[in-house]
Amino acid sequence: MKNMNLCQICSSEKMQFIDSRENYLFCRKCRTVFYLNQSNPEYSDTYFTTDYRKQYGKTYAEDYDAIYKFSQTRISRIEKILPEKIKKSSLLEIGCALGFFLKAASDRGFRKCSGIEISSYASEYARKNFGLKIENIPYSEYSISDKFDVICAWYYFEHERNVPEVIQKTAGRLKKNGVLAFSIPCTNGPMFLLNREQWIKSHPEDHSMDFSPQSVRMLLRKSGFGKIRIYPAGIHPERVFKRTLFLFPVLKFLYGIYSRLFKFSDTIEVYALKK
Ligand SMILES: [Zn+2]
Repeated sequence: MKNMNLCQICSSEKMQFIDSRENYLFCRKCRTVFYLNQSNPEYSDTYFTTDYRKQYGKTYAEDYDAIYKFSQTRISRIEKILPEKIKKSSLLEIGCALGFFLKAASDRGFRKCSGIEISSYASEYARKNFGLKIENIPYSEYSISDKFDVICAWYYFEHERNVPEVIQKTAGRLKKNGVLAFSIPCTNGPMFLLNREQWIKSHPEDHSMDFSPQSVRMLLRKSGFGKIRIYPAGIHPERVFKRTLFLFPVLKFLYGIYSRLFKFSDTIEVYALKK
């Protein structure tokens, strides 16, 4: 096991456990949480069907419209940070599921879209329905040496055992002025800050780290990125205020401003330009 006296991100010694079982080590300086008891990620094809339906009321495939729609927002954010001259070129997605984001990127003019996906059901779905080039392997086995203009990983990195190492490796697969776009769980949100017990209770067993906007920036700068944009991945005022409150619409509006300004969110989207 690695030396946990020092923070893996900022090298601070200000590390403390936040739970009585001493599973969650928190860096008070950069506000990263390290989960010391991470179990091996379990992926099975039922994630996209029965498991997904249990959580969201429909299968992943049936959720196409909603996923396609927020994929378009993500693509706009990528386009915003990408330098004009390399727009619409090669894009790789790590953990591409059924290929809905890649389909949206391809519809928006990205010429060469490809994906890596561990589920054979999802890979086959993406190939068959959208004609996408998908490698059905874990990311650790990906060995193609091509460099990309854009690499995306939506809620993927937190499943890796050594997130800094994997981000560093992924940065090496980007061209100069390429963009790394990803989403991750974040400690700067209402769950971690205002409802810690619930946060611990619902923390997925297969997540190794939870970042803060500050620690993501530090890690990306160390990995060779310059410009970095961070957005709250979702705006959830109902996690702080009761919907039934008379003033809820006003609070909701103010919460949105606060959340965008201070990246106050349980999950964040990150867009970083490689130097
Ligand atoms: Zn730290």
